[in-house]
Amino acid sequence: MKLSEHMQIAKRSVGLLFSLSKAHIICRILASVIGAVLPYVPIYFSARLLDRLYEGSGAGVLAFYVLLTVGIVFLLSLLHTWLSSRRRMAGTEMYRNENWKYSEKAMQMAYESIEDRDVALLRSRIQRETQTGYNIFQLFSTLEQIVGNMTKIGMSLWLTASFFMLKAISLPAKAALIGGLALTLLCRIVTTKRVAKLDERFYGECVYWNMVSGKFDEYVDDYHSGKDIRIYDMAEGLLTYSTALNREVCRKEHRKNMGQTRVRLANVVMSRILQFGVYLLLLSTALGGGVSVGSIARYVSCIMLLLEAASNLVYNLQVAIVNQEYMKRFFSYFDIPNHMYQGSLTVEKRDDNDYNVEFRDVSFRYPHTQEYALRHVNLKFKVGEKLAVVGMNGSGKTTFIKLMCRLYDPTEGEILLNGVNIKKYDYEEYISIFSVVFQDFRLFSFTLGQNVAAGTVYDETLVRQCLEQAGFGERLESLGMGLDTCLYKDCDENGVEISGGEAQKIALARALYKDAPFMILDEPTAALDPISEYEVFSRFNEIAKDKTAIYISHRLASCRFCDKIAVFDEGRIVQTGNHGELLAQEGGKYYELWHAQAQYYTSEQ
Ligand code: ADP
Repeated sequence: MKLSEHMQIAKRSVGLLFSLSKAHIICRILASVIGAVLPYVPIYFSARLLDRLYEGSGAGVLAFYVLLTVGIVFLLSLLHTWLSSRRRMAGTEMYRNENWKYSEKAMQMAYESIEDRDVALLRSRIQRETQTGYNIFQLFSTLEQIVGNMTKIGMSLWLTASFFMLKAISLPAKAALIGGLALTLLCRIVTTKRVAKLDERFYGECVYWNMVSGKFDEYVDDYHSGKDIRIYDMAEGLLTYSTALNREVCRKEHRKNMGQTRVRLANVVMSRILQFGVYLLLLSTALGGGVSVGSIARYVSCIMLLLEAASNLVYNLQVAIVNQEYMKRFFSYFDIPNHMYQGSLTVEKRDDNDYNVEFRDVSFRYPHTQEYALRHVNLKFKVGEKLAVVGMNGSGKTTFIKLMCRLYDPTEGEILLNGVNIKKYDYEEYISIFSVVFQDFRLFSFTLGQNVAAGTVYDETLVRQCLEQAGFGERLESLGMGLDTCLYKDCDENGVEISGGEAQKIALARALYKDAPFMILDEPTAALDPISEYEVFSRFNEIAKDKTAIYISHRLASCRFCDKIAVFDEGRIVQTGNHGELLAQEGGKYYELWHAQAQYYTSEQ
């Protein structure tokens, strides 16, 4: 990393720290300065006291120095304790803000990025790196320690500056002292570098294992997996896998720790020998004459503190440099752009819901794939039309909807809303005209009412009405707490477990509550039998009224009431028309699928 990049990241990091919690960082820095100054108070006053004692001053003067020392230490200690507890309180706010940043980013990202495996890996890596020691919190403590050590160095230099002016101390003695100091620092630099290298190698190797074991824990802890684990007797296999993984990580960690211990021991031996040498040198030269007893005590203590602080500062700076790599990765995640937010046109709010959509020669490939999921799709549908999208699994139906709702942009071609490329519209406005029930919709462990409204504040009457229209009316009556009933037991022990079919009805109600001009059902009825699916679709058809409704299903029978049916096959639209027209085309895909499925629906027919 270049120096300019280091500077830029450091500046941004400090800004980030302040934005996470100003109170926390200010308290931390002030507490650090006071903590650093504290040991110098008794050193300074004790030296003066000793001199007065040596000079034979009276008890009054001596008592004054004692009281002054105790008083200042007492006040500073009180302030330090108060700042530390304020710091702890603000710390909770900071950790929450940091956590929230990830959730906020995930919600603001383009959907395409959320589905992207590389983005998921990066996010998982920076989140898991909190375990490696190099992370955003390391930045807090490093900054705090840098300020503390610099204060100590400043105080030590201030209190020992006169030492280097003393004529009584010979030049070689002064040079030896500075040499000793430099050697101690060099020792620390070499040791820290080696320890950091060993850490870096180990944690670099751990990224993948951490991720795998995170996924593993998620799977094992989730009660949804509990059924499969028991039925397929997976416990032993999972345990063996996990134990092998842990053993491998522990072995590598042990090797790293042993290497670091050897380096640290060598450093302790070296630096203690050097410190002892400096100590003896100081004492012998000072005792040579020309220096007061109090000053000897002060110089010795301050130079020892200077040695320690300078050595720690070198360590802090090295850690800060290593941590920059983490911060670079951290920012690279938060800098992932959302290119969806480029348009600015407002979507005309029409009372007559007069919207129309056109796919013009649209082709699409998912990121990091070579195969096209959609190929040369051309389709126009009119206001209020009921469109069905049918085809085999994997033929591109959901992809077609994802593109229409602008969760992805086409690789080639364009999609138009009322004749204007949808990229030109304000993204949020555009997306607000769609209500979609996806195949893999998710409900959250909040109340039923909040799930339907997709928000905390809602119109109760409207929510009830939508639930009834979606076929959940009877079940709602049976719930003791009505709309305030919590779904699932994750957040509330009185929560209700709902079946797949019931969940789909709630998801349908949610789509109805949004009351958007476009209603899309992407096989939301997969947990229902074909006849129930037909009923749901028919009911939805009545509810949709003048809205543009799009139904996706691989069950052709469910969609035959639609004005227009688009038949997808291997990413292409191979036929369009109404049920009668399509069935009349013998040898066509629709004809083939209809007859293949018809045998299952004889009673319905
Ligand atoms: P359908 O809804 O008709 O079952 P999809 O639109 O889901 O089909 O899928 C069309 C093709 O795109 C399939 O080959 C599928 O594997 C592929 N596909 C779907 N989602 C993704 C994705 N997120 N990344 C890569 N390929 C995908």
